[in-house]
Amino acid sequence: MHYLSTRSHQETATSAEAVLRGLAPDGGLYVPETIPAAELSDAALISLDQYALTAHILKKLLPDLPAAAVEDAVREGYSGKFETEDLTPTVQVDKAHVLELYHGPTSAFKDMALCLLPRLIAASCAACGVKEDVLVLTATSGDTGKAALAGFADAPHTRVMVFYPEGGVSEVQRAQMVTQEGKNVCVCAVRGNFDDAQRGVKEVFAQFKGTRVRLSSANSINIGRLAPQVAYYFKAYADLRKKGVVKAGAPVDFIVPTGNFGNILAGYLAKRMGLPVGTLVCASNENDVLTEFLQTGVYDRRRTFHKTASPSMDILVSSNLERLLYFASDGDAELVASLMHKLTETGVYRIPEELHKRIRSEFACGKADDPAAFDAIRRVWAKERYLMDPHTAVAWRVYEGYRAAGQSENPAVVLSTASPYKFAPAMLEALGLPVPESGFDAMEELHGATGTPIPKPLAALKYKKELHRDVIEPSAMLSYVERKAEQVRWAE
Ligand SMILES: *Cc1c(COP(=O)(O)O)cnc(C)c1O
Repeated sequence: MHYLSTRSHQETATSAEAVLRGLAPDGGLYVPETIPAAELSDAALISLDQYALTAHILKKLLPDLPAAAVEDAVREGYSGKFETEDLTPTVQVDKAHVLELYHGPTSAFKDMALCLLPRLIAASCAACGVKEDVLVLTATSGDTGKAALAGFADAPHTRVMVFYPEGGVSEVQRAQMVTQEGKNVCVCAVRGNFDDAQRGVKEVFAQFKGTRVRLSSANSINIGRLAPQVAYYFKAYADLRKKGVVKAGAPVDFIVPTGNFGNILAGYLAKRMGLPVGTLVCASNENDVLTEFLQTGVYDRRRTFHKTASPSMDILVSSNLERLLYFASDGDAELVASLMHKLTETGVYRIPEELHKRIRSEFACGKADDPAAFDAIRRVWAKERYLMDPHTAVAWRVYEGYRAAGQSENPAVVLSTASPYKFAPAMLEALGLPVPESGFDAMEELHGATGTPIPKPLAALKYKKELHRDVIEPSAMLSYVERKAEQVRWAE
């Protein structure tokens, strides 16, 4: 199986090359030529543990990596790094099932992929005979950055560089990043929002001329990010099977708090690989460009950017939508290239009606602004004694609306993407409690008020030293990367 670019069938790559490059040379995203079948019987699905299940899915999507390397990557990448024995527990809350994806080292779902990515990159280097170091460039809306730093810190033959929007991430998210230790890590703030940082990274990819390192990406433009995410959809389905919630082969709906469209696209891939997924429900916060797109078929980023209480979803240009357009149009690379060109040139595009209909047959959508999400946090805590973070609450609110509209009777899984403690001030506000000045005091308050445990790495942050203080303009990103890439060492 080859990988192709979403923008032209001339750009082919092996799966190992796709992982190494991140982005295709023509600016498109890598997609498998044909989406492989998972080939998992119901009996196998129920009997495999999460490590074996994840390795199975990775081997299907990344067939050029040696099977043993993939199995090692999963075992070493996940073992001993999670606070719960079950890496991703599925918890019943009221009539829905919440898939908790945030028990990893940085308390957000990005860990599911970024615990594995450094090892997948190392295996890809070996498979491709690459000798030079890999420099992993990452734009972050808050959570990817820390997960990438933690995953790559001191990993051999790699360096990781993270750009985050100055003032655009929570205090705790920032502290997580700027205190990161490691000889091969670099963290820099950008005077702009996430979209500026993401655009800057894409430009660096297009124009970088350094020879000392090879660039790759830890953003969900990298297929190596998406592949591990596909696996937890299978795991969640297996959990519901084991609990007797769903009969073999019966559909389950997934409600996904969405920003860059990576998480939900992994659900779509799971479906195309054969998992009985009913509807995928895309939940947006006030930056509802995706909800509007799914409703109208018009993608229009020319709108006000809102800073919300769910900052990891504050995104107006959702990269992975490009992959959906490709798959749903049966691989019409010419169409995708022209839509993406329009987006760059004019900020807006409209998809053909037939394509819109097809997408609508598999995706539902909804939005929830901060007051609606806060209301959900308060109600679910009061009624169920279950605490959900602001991103999860957006999805929960959208789930309620979806259910109330009577569109589906399928069992529903709401994806929970972050620990409430990453966003403690917003949580306190939602619960109607006083909000202290400092995010760290807010963690303590939230703990005192709810009795829920603070994840250990978050509790330890307060005592760590700030190590990274650079702040630059988006236009300076290329020269920053080039200068840094020439330095042999970053830390004393
Ligand atoms: C990244 C992130 C999201 C959005 O996921 P995408 O894959 O970008 O759609 C949602 N919630 C949290 C907590 C995140 O970190």
